[in-house]
Amino acid sequence: MRWPVGRLPRRWALWGLLVLLVLAMLSTLVWLAGRYEISQVQSRIERDAADAVSDIRVALLRNVQTLQTLQFVDPSQRPWPKAAAALLRDHREWLRLEQRDVDLRVVTAVDTPFRSPVFAVFGRTAGQPEVVQACAVARRQSGPGYGVSNYVPQKDGLGLEIMDLCLPVLVDGHITGYTVVSYALSEILAGMVGPQLTRSQEVSFTESDGTRLAKFGMPRRGTRVFTAQQLLDLPGHAMVLRMDSWRAAPDVFPNVLTALVTAMAIALVTVLIMLGRDMRRRQRVESDLADALAFRKAMEDSLVTGLRARDTQGRITYVNPAFCEMVGFSAKELLGHGMPAPYWPPEMIDEYGQRQALRLAGNAPPREGVESVFMHKNGQHMAVMIFEAPLINAQGQQTGWMSAVLNISEQRRVEEMSRASQERLQATARLAMVGEMASLLSHELNQPLAAISSYATGSMNLLQDLSQQDPSVGGMLSDAIERIGQQAERAGKVIKSVHDFVRRRDQAREAVLPRTLFDNVMPLITLQARKLGVRVVLRCANDLPAVLCDKTMVEQVLLNLARNAMQAMTEDTRDKVLTLGARAAASNAISRWMEFSVTDVGPGIAPDVAEKLFTPFFTTKVEGMGLGLSLCRTVVEQHGGLLSHTDNTPRGTVFSFTLPQA
Ligand code: ADP
Repeated sequence: MRWPVGRLPRRWALWGLLVLLVLAMLSTLVWLAGRYEISQVQSRIERDAADAVSDIRVALLRNVQTLQTLQFVDPSQRPWPKAAAALLRDHREWLRLEQRDVDLRVVTAVDTPFRSPVFAVFGRTAGQPEVVQACAVARRQSGPGYGVSNYVPQKDGLGLEIMDLCLPVLVDGHITGYTVVSYALSEILAGMVGPQLTRSQEVSFTESDGTRLAKFGMPRRGTRVFTAQQLLDLPGHAMVLRMDSWRAAPDVFPNVLTALVTAMAIALVTVLIMLGRDMRRRQRVESDLADALAFRKAMEDSLVTGLRARDTQGRITYVNPAFCEMVGFSAKELLGHGMPAPYWPPEMIDEYGQRQALRLAGNAPPREGVESVFMHKNGQHMAVMIFEAPLINAQGQQTGWMSAVLNISEQRRVEEMSRASQERLQATARLAMVGEMASLLSHELNQPLAAISSYATGSMNLLQDLSQQDPSVGGMLSDAIERIGQQAERAGKVIKSVHDFVRRRDQAREAVLPRTLFDNVMPLITLQARKLGVRVVLRCANDLPAVLCDKTMVEQVLLNLARNAMQAMTEDTRDKVLTLGARAAASNAISRWMEFSVTDVGPGIAPDVAEKLFTPFFTTKVEGMGLGLSLCRTVVEQHGGLLSHTDNTPRGTVFSFTLPQA
């Protein structure tokens, strides 16, 4: 069995599709996981930026409140510069505190103790635009006002981005002056934003156009940057707080989710590969199995033995073509058929049913097989030999019976024929024996009869002389003697006719191949040879010419000689071999001869036995008749041939006779 056309490519296409789908799904998953993670990072940084802005806002508000307390400090108790200096020590983000009058002129100013005075290089004028703008806002709102940030160069060549806060000093609702504070933007970032926000990210202030004013935090690291911007809207001035975060590790494997998805993907691909391998192995096994099945099927189909399997209920589960042919039913008609089987002869159904019941009860049939009779679909009966064996499945359980069925009808017929021919041959042998006896008797009786007849004739002649002297006595005696003579003659004729009848067999001569003669007697010889444990060897070329003979009689001669030879090889003869042979014998101009020989390896023939060998009724055997050899000689001589015997080397005897070639 092979794959049906088109099945294999479709299977591969399906596998290809599955692999593609899985790959697509996996990459989508990885991509989605990446995206999700990016959005997580982005939203975290957005949150951080918002937190930072609110931190700053709260801190600025607190600072405003602190400044307001400064305004209410009683100068007689604690002079302003002293109080301011104390505040500056607490607030690193403040660079300078100024006390200004209503016209923004600086009354008192205190610089931060942490660095050199920032306005030392260019000074600080009353009309500085940022301060003016901040105080204008403060005046308008009667609260804090912020100025636009500006860059103040320093002595060391660097500069600072500074933003001014102006807070009006109110006395009974009237502005009596201003407190101006200069904030360092970078210090705002350093001091007011929670340290957890700046530990791994960079915060900076930018203008709305993106110009960076001040920054604080981690230096740039990694490849990917995430940015969030948040507006810090102060009265009088607005700035953008920007937060940058860098991702150091490659993007695809940044966190547990992606790692998990990737691990799953790898596991899935591994499973796919293993599945593929498994499929290939299965395919190989399938094809091996198909080959084995095809081989088995071919074997079953070519078998001449019928095969039949039955389940434990006696239902037929399998038949091979030979079985179907044997019983004449098709596999379809037989499969699933229970008892009685369609090939059981109707008259045997009861007996077979009982036999089957016995088997189902667990009695295993004999291993050497059972002889049975089946019926062909056409009604013809046949003798079969059934060999049965239990059918064991892969789990070791018996599921039924497997039977091999042989049709032995032909064998039976041949056996019957050979038995009949054996009987016929035996009858012929008996007849020949009777003939031989009759012939011998006629030969032996002829002489006394002839003597009786001639004595009768002599007596008649004497009586004729005597009757001339006394006619009455002579007449009576002569009558009686004449009758004796007539009866003797009649007996002679009867015997002659019997003799002629026996001799008349000459007419039955025909041309027969030596091989045919051997072939005809071989079954009988081998039958006896098997009984006596003798090995039979035939030496007869196939191309020998035919002989002219009475087939039945010559076969009888061969049988007799062979039987004698086998009987001569007694129990103590080693390696019993009987050799039958035929070859062309020395010929003369008139006739050509064929020589047949029968050789044994028995004890040979003693000289005293050899003398009387052909004498009728001579035998050395208990049940022997002593006619066999004499009959053989008669038959051979009737054919014009010669029967003789010689010693065989190293032991035994060779009996040989000649017959004319056809
Ligand atoms: P029967 O076989 O009835 O005795 P036969 O005329 O066939 O009569 O044989 C006469 C005797 O010749 C046998 O009893 C046997 O002693 C002897 N004889 C015949 N053939 C052989 C032989 N091949 N080897 C030895 N003796 C033989």
